[in-house]
Amino acid sequence: MPDNPNAEIVAIGTELLLGEITDTNSVYLARQLRDIGVNVFFMTTVGDNLTRIADAISAALERAEIVITTGGLGPTVDDMTRQAIADVLGRPLLFHESLYKAIEDRFRGFGVEMTANNRQQAYLPECATHIENPVGTAPAFLVESERGVVISLPGVPREMKYLVTESVIPHLLRKYELGVIVARTLRTAGIGESSLDDKIGKALLNERNPSVGLAAHHGAVDVRVTAKADSRSNAVLLLDQMQARLEERIGDDVFGVDDATLEDVVWEHLRKHNLKVHVTEAGLPGVISSAWNEESDALQTRYYDNPDQVFAHYAVSPAEVSLTEFAADIAARIRIREDADASIVVLSYPDLDENADVALGSAVAISTAEQIRFRGYGFGTRSHLAREWISRWGLASLWRMLKEEQG
Ligand code: ATP
Repeated sequence: MPDNPNAEIVAIGTELLLGEITDTNSVYLARQLRDIGVNVFFMTTVGDNLTRIADAISAALERAEIVITTGGLGPTVDDMTRQAIADVLGRPLLFHESLYKAIEDRFRGFGVEMTANNRQQAYLPECATHIENPVGTAPAFLVESERGVVISLPGVPREMKYLVTESVIPHLLRKYELGVIVARTLRTAGIGESSLDDKIGKALLNERNPSVGLAAHHGAVDVRVTAKADSRSNAVLLLDQMQARLEERIGDDVFGVDDATLEDVVWEHLRKHNLKVHVTEAGLPGVISSAWNEESDALQTRYYDNPDQVFAHYAVSPAEVSLTEFAADIAARIRIREDADASIVVLSYPDLDENADVALGSAVAISTAEQIRFRGYGFGTRSHLAREWISRWGLASLWRMLKEEQG
């Protein structure tokens, strides 16, 4: 048996080609196969047409050892997967009395009359192995042949998923003695993708097992580490070793692993050190403060409709000072006045799109006992970037400042 079998997925159904439903089954199958180290190089979608289904399966068998189909196993005339597989493998369809009885029992269990066409579902290609389907009526099956194995699953996602996790994956793991793939994501904040890439270095990024890859989201970059080994514990060991090597280089940028969120990490820090934060938001209510929706004395907030109200409140004219300098200045003043350990000020003009003047766009400033950081953006609240970038930058900066001050 090859250690690294390739698989292909053939999704069957005219609804898919008409764009009426999304092929979530192939996505699910692809992930499951990825997780057990089976390569998928092609996925095909084909309508309910016997010749075209047979062609798609035959082409897949030319390229891969494992072909998994979904859909087209129902009792109606447009369910042609069984016949197509029989044609491709040159085997007749044979009637299975036990399967017929099982389908009959299921219908009886539902209290529904079984129609004549359900008999069709009791036919399987010669030498097919029936895969028990306790969650539906469409009988799934597997056929081994000299061309490879064809596994045929129902289209209904709930049934397909059940059979994949309960039968198909265990079968493939046994048959091919596959390795286990385990992934871990190191989550970074306050550093861009290219700087991170540079700090990690080509040597690590080119390693194959574990492999290291970067994925940038708005204002945050994830480092995904994937290891393959003969057992889960060995794969985890490889991940631990790679994580340690990465942390030597980027440890200061990593705020957590896998599902950790910056919001939670910052909040936990505030709680642990008994710190108080004050947030002033003009134009973007909740942009920072909604990260923490807990009722707590540790968080105080103040909202304004727009930055002009804040200028008026502090009796400062926008002509005298830039938006970012003003944000920085009042962040420091508010921190002292409110006796807070950190003060965050966000000023964002409404009705401004991207490419606005920075002086008229948005500003965010953070003041702590020892530091002040601020930044301006050339967009206002109307830009879809505003919330995401400002909250990411604000939280990432606060996290870094707190870490530098309290460890
Ligand atoms: P049944 O016996 O229920 O008819 P089947 O194997 O014949 O099962 P299909 O008739 O092809 O399956 O599809 C049943 C339903 O499952 C579709 O109407 C659709 O809602 C869903 N479905 C089918 N294929 C996919 C797919 N690739 N991705 C997501 N959903 C799908």
